[in-house]
This record gives sequence, C-alpha cells and structure tokens, in this order.
Amino acid sequence: MSPHGSYRDRVTTPATVPDLVLRGARLPRLDGECDVLLRGGEIAEIAPRGRIAEGGARSVELGGRLLLPGLWDEHVHFTQHVIRRRRLDLADTTSPAEVLDRLRAELARRTDLDAGELIMGYGFRDGLWTESPTLAAIDDVSRTVPVALVSADLHCAWVNTPAARLLELEPDASGVVREGPWIAASARLEAANAVPISAYRDAAEAAARRGVVGIVDYEYADNVAEWRERVREGVDQLRVDVAVWPDRLDEALAAGHRTGDLLEPSGLIRMGRLKVVVDGSLNTRTAWCWDPYPGAEPTADDAYGVVSTSAAELRRLLAHARGGEIGAAVHAIGDHATTEVLDAFEELGMSGIVEHAQLISDRDLPRFARLGLVASVQPEHAMDDRDVAEHHWLGRTGRAFAFGSLHAAGAELRLGSDAPVAPLDPWISMSAAISRSRGDRDAWHPEQRLPFEVAFAASTRGRTTVAVGDPADLVVVESDPATLPRDALRELPVAATLVGGRATWSGTLLD
Ligand SMILES: [Zn+2]
Repeated sequence: MSPHGSYRDRVTTPATVPDLVLRGARLPRLDGECDVLLRGGEIAEIAPRGRIAEGGARSVELGGRLLLPGLWDEHVHFTQHVIRRRRLDLADTTSPAEVLDRLRAELARRTDLDAGELIMGYGFRDGLWTESPTLAAIDDVSRTVPVALVSADLHCAWVNTPAARLLELEPDASGVVREGPWIAASARLEAANAVPISAYRDAAEAAARRGVVGIVDYEYADNVAEWRERVREGVDQLRVDVAVWPDRLDEALAAGHRTGDLLEPSGLIRMGRLKVVVDGSLNTRTAWCWDPYPGAEPTADDAYGVVSTSAAELRRLLAHARGGEIGAAVHAIGDHATTEVLDAFEELGMSGIVEHAQLISDRDLPRFARLGLVASVQPEHAMDDRDVAEHHWLGRTGRAFAFGSLHAAGAELRLGSDAPVAPLDPWISMSAAISRSRGDRDAWHPEQRLPFEVAFAASTRGRTTVAVGDPADLVVVESDPATLPRDALRELPVAATLVGGRATWSGTLLD
C-alpha cells in the first residue's frame, strides 16, 4: 500500500490484446531508432530498428517519433468534468452582473429546454467579486427554469428558487450555498442533470487524445459501481483508480476492496483510496491557515478558514481505512490543514497522499519525504489563482503552490488537474509546473518552477522512459516535450496513445 514501488506492481492488463510491434520509435536518452514489441499488455522487447522479427504480429511505423510512458491525471472529478463539457462557462466573468448577463444569453439560446430541465453554469470566482450576489437578482433572470451556477473551485453555488427547490437547498438572501450543504447537494445536482453514457465516452476519448492512460477519480459518488457499469458500456479508454468518500468507506471495507485491487474484468478499474477533506478552498477563504485572512476579525469563527473534518475524526477514518488496507488521500489546502494532515499520518505511521497542499509552512516541507507522503498538486491552479492568492495569502505566496520547495525537500510529487477546475490535460499541468506562467504574464514565484524531467515523472507515476516489463501504457508524440517552450508544450500534438498495448487514440498513425 506504499505509494512507492514499481509502476508494474500497480497495473495489470489481461493478456488478450494482440501483439503489436512499434517500428522506428525514438526513446528518451537512447540514440537511434528502436522497435518495441508489445505483448500481453506489456513491453516485451526493445531492439534496434529491424531486429524484431514480424512473427505474425501487426506492426506500425512510428517514423522516428518519440515514444514515452503514458500520462496520468492524479486528481479528477470525472462526472463533474463530463458535465462541465456540457455547461455554461463562467470562467472569465468578473462580477455577479456579468454572470447574470451570460445566463440571460444562455436562456435565450437554449430553446430546446424540457420543462423542469436544469441550466448549469460553472466557473465564477466570487473571491474577487466586489459586489454581492443576491437570490432576488438571479430569480429576476428566471423564476421558472432551475439555475445552479457553481464556483470554479466547486465549493459553492449560486442558485435560483426553482433550483433550490429541485436540489433541496435553503439559500439565504445571497442565493449562495457553500461547503457542507452544497457538497451534500452535489449528488442531487448530478441526478437533476443526468448525462448520457456517450458524454462519458467522449470525455474519456478526449483525455486519450492528450496522451492520458489513467486518472484518479475523486468524484463524490459510488465510483466502484459507476465505473464497473461505464466500462461495460464502452468507456474503456482509461485506467481509473476510484476513490471512496467517508460515507461509503464501510461499504468498501465490507466488500473487501483494498487499495490496488482490480474491481472488474477489464483490469482498468482499481480500488483507489479513501478521500477525506480537512478544509475548504482558497477562493472561498475557507482554506484552514495559521494566519487570519486579511481584513478578518481574528476572533471571528472563520478568520482562519474552515475545519471540515476534526482531528479526532480524521484519525479515526484513516485508521479505520488502514484496517481494511485502504490507503488515504487527504485534501488540505491551507498551511494549518497541511500540518494537521501530516500530524495525523505521522501519529498513525501511515503513508498516503496529501491532495493540493497549496500553502505549506516551511517546517512542514521536509516532513513529506520523511513520512513517505506524496504531494499531489495541481499546477494550473497556481496560474488560475495567483491573484486570489496574492489577496487572501498576502505576504505568504512564497510558499504557496511550492512545487520547487517540495521537490527540493525530497517530496514525491504527482501532478493533476482537479478537472473540471482545470483542463484534463497533463501537458497543461506540466507547462504550468515548469514555467509558473501563462499568457502574457511573468512567471509567478519562478523559484518554485520544476525541471521538466521532474514534472514529467510526476505525470507518469515515476516512469521516465520505456522499459521492458513495464505495462504498454504509452504515448507517441510529434515533438520532444523536454525541448518545447511553455505554450507549445500546452498544445503538444499526440500521435497515439496505448493502454495495455491497445490503442485508445491513434490519430492517423495506427488506423
Ligand atoms: Zn478535487
């Protein structure tokens, strides 16, 4: 259950995939072109070009293209990502009035709405608003069509009265519902906004087109049952490690699912970890910090953020999961939350994953390596949230999204998107991690940049090259990502992606 160990130990593929020879591949750190034999879902042989006999295997010419280990997105909310692909985008709005303008336009456009059908918007950043939202204002836009507008970090929603009724929410005069009550309603939102299986397939294919071979799904749902069903319905382009939230932990333990166990016959879906959320988020000023938020009354209840799971409950949950060999991934965004999570893992002598770790006390940096904990970080958040961070964490951003410091302190890093919060595209995460910049802006705390090789390994579960015995989870790219400038890396063309030796995306290459 250690987060370490070889990649091979952590994936299994049925041996039913036909043999395939990739001819003329270039491999990292090797001169000349190679042929690579894929057999039984693994890399069976690597030899200089022309040295692997045909032997009945199909062969594909890569023409000197670079062959790399396939990519993982270590933090995804897959259903919300799928829904996001179908909903009103509010990402570039800056005020409640602008949000409502978008909503008016959307309502005018959506002449196809069924009676009672919900309109869902996503992506506003209320942390930067200077005006306050109101229930009256959103009701003025529509008193009949249910409307739920979700914040970029997913921690709150602005709803109108019909949506509040549908989702069993009780908003105050702001119309905004936050944290616990909102997160509890997300399953009802999903039901109200049910998506067809084709939308899941489209989203999985889109990920494969970017070289993704696996994701960790932190959706708040019955991920075990849902992914078993999805694979049966042909959503089989990705490996998925499925998380379980505390309210389904007993069920998972009773079923005997241990972290790493295969959950269905394809070998794609595996038991992931218990997900526990200890604090809130930066945008909503609910990340739990050692220092009060600027302007907050230090004696106010929420001056330091919000504690979502008590110290005692966190320890109880982690120990309970460990009893059934289920590992843990714990969400901590503020520096106090991170200290708390490190303390809990240390006291229990458990390894595990700290999700986000967006603000870290200097004294906590070396503890990740010492305790064998992985820091699972989302570099594109640093690009999206740098202004909010400079506001809410004023004077402390030298240790915010501190990828460089974590790496220097020996922490094992994993990169993710937190899709739909950021795009499900590891090249974008890598670009943000190595440059700390986007668009026309300067690098933000450039000392926290990661070397490309580190960002890449953090996107492949530690694989830096293609080796015999590894699973044939591979990506073929059109240029060497290690040499690409920031913007080109974001859009690196992917020629093909293989999971267990089976093409999940082939462009024109493997057709
Ligand atoms: Zn998340």
